[in-house]
Amino acid sequence: MPLLRALGERLDTVVLSHRDSDHTGGAPAVLAMQAEAELRSSVEAGHPLQQLRPVQRCLTGQQWTWDGVRFEILHPQEADYAGFTKPNAVSCVLRVGNGRATVLLAGDIERVQEAALAARTPALQADLLLVPHHGSKTSSTPALLDAVQPRIALVQAGYRNRFGHPAGEVVARYAERRIEVVDSAHCGAARWSSAHPGSVRCERQEGRRYWHHQPP
Ligand SMILES: [Zn+2]
Repeated sequence: MPLLRALGERLDTVVLSHRDSDHTGGAPAVLAMQAEAELRSSVEAGHPLQQLRPVQRCLTGQQWTWDGVRFEILHPQEADYAGFTKPNAVSCVLRVGNGRATVLLAGDIERVQEAALAARTPALQADLLLVPHHGSKTSSTPALLDAVQPRIALVQAGYRNRFGHPAGEVVARYAERRIEVVDSAHCGAARWSSAHPGSVRCERQEGRRYWHHQPP
């Protein structure tokens, strides 16, 4: 909310990948300040967010274009909604591109969904990959990395988080492919622009003060 307020942003659509609280916990506050925003997610019909705003269900094939920027939902498929065991499995995967640069926002999909996504989606290459499931060892399989071939992999994970995200073996998989890994504990707020698709601006580096802790 402070960021949106500082940027003066009016949101047209809020996409919440799936129901887990690390993805939806702040949604009521954001929706309260963004009265016009539409909501798109994989949350179920009885989810409390439905009371705040009707939720359009994410489905592969949904797409729209704003100002020359194309948005496409690549996952889940209709069949994924039947009988999934973890909400991660129905994470909305969103691709955003303007023809010159592409971002893939992968939610918390895991290896089974990654394999299906890579198998059915031609030309999955993206400049920036929001690393699936915070860099968990259940995700970022070689099949996905070889299909996406990102220049930058951005991990959203807390400093010394109890899950150990990102997993060492996952970071190694990116390193083997010479993909730059940027994690939020070291980077702070990350800013990426299609004008400079090969780099990310890190607030902790750009706005560093001498009293800031530097994580090892
Ligand atoms: Zn998550």
